[in-house]
Amino acid sequence: MTDNLVTVAYLAAGVLFILSLGGLSTQETARRGNLFGIIGMTIAVVATALSNEVSAYGLLAGGLAVGGLIGAVLAAKVEMTSMPQLVAILHSFVGLAAVLVGYATFLDTSVVHEGAAATIHQIEIYVGVLVGALTFTGSVIAFGKLQGFIGGKPLLLPARHVLNVVAVLACVYYGISFVGGPHDEAMLALYVMTAISGAIGVHMVMAIGGADMPVVVSMLNSYSGWAAAAAGFMLSNDLLIITGALVGSSGAILSYIMCAAMNRSFVSVILGGFGTGTSSGSGTQVEGEVTPVDLDETVELMLDARSVIIVPGYGMAVAQAQHPLYEITNVLRGRGALVRFGIHPVAGRLPGHMNVLLAEAKVPYDIVLEMEELNDDFPETDLVLVIGANDIVNPGALEDTSSPIYGMPVLEVWKAQTTIVLKRGMAAGYAGVDNPLFYKENTRMLFGDAKKNCDALLAALRTATEAQAAE
Ligand code: NDP
Repeated sequence: MTDNLVTVAYLAAGVLFILSLGGLSTQETARRGNLFGIIGMTIAVVATALSNEVSAYGLLAGGLAVGGLIGAVLAAKVEMTSMPQLVAILHSFVGLAAVLVGYATFLDTSVVHEGAAATIHQIEIYVGVLVGALTFTGSVIAFGKLQGFIGGKPLLLPARHVLNVVAVLACVYYGISFVGGPHDEAMLALYVMTAISGAIGVHMVMAIGGADMPVVVSMLNSYSGWAAAAAGFMLSNDLLIITGALVGSSGAILSYIMCAAMNRSFVSVILGGFGTGTSSGSGTQVEGEVTPVDLDETVELMLDARSVIIVPGYGMAVAQAQHPLYEITNVLRGRGALVRFGIHPVAGRLPGHMNVLLAEAKVPYDIVLEMEELNDDFPETDLVLVIGANDIVNPGALEDTSSPIYGMPVLEVWKAQTTIVLKRGMAAGYAGVDNPLFYKENTRMLFGDAKKNCDALLAALRTATEAQAAE
């Protein structure tokens, strides 16, 4: 394949990646966006394999077969709730690849650069290895925390900010001896910097509590993009530069959106310390009694309701309750009720988590609304069903200044006439804080697994509806 043809193929792949990102921004176009991404990546891999620089086809085929097989098996098996850790471990590979490309480029004596070009090339290598090593170790720790190998409690070393600053200054110092220094000295500087930046990655993520981990994964996503872009500069590969920049900037934007939805500043997340990983948390302890409700009473409330809002959360994903929920929606709509879903931007464990599950269960997109679109409608709503959600419906986020989630916008479900919360017990949510919603006068608790209860509610609703129709 000629160089020109490769360039054209890369350009087409770059455009497809941009269209893919655009498509993924709404549910209606997400499938198309995904398809654009697949086609773009196929073009990119084929064009690279057929380019003049590639000759070791046996090695390439072996790598593609083994890597492709492992990736396909893992992606097919992974649960939606474990997606953040899969993403984290995949970022670690990008970081490691950037480190290896950096070392290989440094050791490659076949290309000789002179003057300013040599300096720029060395800086590319140094920055690529630095960001790559940090991304690699940070992502491995994030994976360990999300998977539960490493505790969610933040590790707060004394003078940790000073330690980070000293480590960054050391990287700058070794960078100066790397650029333009004799080969052996540069090699040593590269080794030392790799170790230091790897340690920064470990330290940075260890200091971050469980509750902020998804933001960290998104931030590492951004770093992995910049590491890939740096590798693109080292290899003079335009497509890698474009893709890296797209991943780098979209990861940064996503981190910002998540921080805004949790009312946390990006800097406070990076500095760490939030989220204890226990279920005790801080915030005011709520006193009072909860009002349990049984299935029959719940069905009666559902039959009477003319307007219903369903608020799904992490528990719906764990229980996989979206399918019976869709059927319940159909029965209620068939009876003439207005039924809508209210989605909080950080419901579940990753942005869009609930939208994906509801789309999978075939819930129509036009009844799935964002928090801002629905929050004013709660006072006119007869019944709210909270399915395995907790933090995103916590009134303490608006009222309790001592709560760690104070300031986070929430779905104001307590303003509805009646709110029924489906969860297994009184356990706290991800942020580990008590929820005053459960103790409110108009709140009823339907305890038990969300899927089992939704199945039972569906059966009872169908029986009641059929009986009414027969009368
Ligand atoms: P939460 O984690 O606050 O609460 C989930 C609730 O589901 C738990 O209290 C649990 O209670 C219940 N539950 C668990 N399993 C089941 C089951 N099988 N059946 C019924 N209930 C179940 O989830 P939310 O969605 O309300 O909030 C998301 C949290 O994650 C927020 O704190 C958010 O900040 C955080 N987060 C989300 C991100 C995102 O991008 N989505 C990113 C970063 C953080 P019990 O054990 O008693 O059943």
